[in-house]
Amino acid sequence: MDALTAFIDRTNIAMAKADDIVDARASLERLRCLINDVWSRRDESSSSGGGVIVPWFAGVARQEIDWGPTIDPEKCVSCGLCLNCGKDVFDWVDGKSTVARRDDCVVGCMTCGNLCQGHAITFPSLDELRKAYRDNHVWKHVKAAMIKAGKIPAQS
Ligand code: SF4
Ligand code: SF4
Repeated sequence: MDALTAFIDRTNIAMAKADDIVDARASLERLRCLINDVWSRRDESSSSGGGVIVPWFAGVARQEIDWGPTIDPEKCVSCGLCLNCGKDVFDWVDGKSTVARRDDCVVGCMTCGNLCQGHAITFPSLDELRKAYRDNHVWKHVKAAMIKAGKIPAQS
């Protein structure tokens, strides 16, 4: 094998490994979204027996919560990663990603923003979200549900 052929072989191997890393990151993002989704759908009537209540179902409609991604089209480099969102929030339009179903975004999730190659995705203020939790006594409801589910001792 001559030097050029060996170089090309090494380059191909390196590119294949890079592709594997990108695939692994995308899979991790999908897994996290799926976990968030399953978590958000559990409630007190769950047949799983967990008895877990999810914050925003403690009396607050999802549509009333200002949470979801915003894309700066100037920064989007069309990497496509956000289209891997497990909640199917984005559509691909004219070579760029667009937010199509904002209210389907899992409240508090920022995975696509964390992994966006162009740093193009932003979210509302976490401080505002935490204030909404506080104003709606969400933490109190969740803790009560955790105690009821036996996940936290009653005296905690
Ligand atoms: S992850 Fe970011 S850069 Fe990639 S397509 Fe989505 S918005 Fe654009
Ligand atoms: S933050 Fe929302 S839109 Fe982004 S990956 Fe998570 S659920 Fe999907």
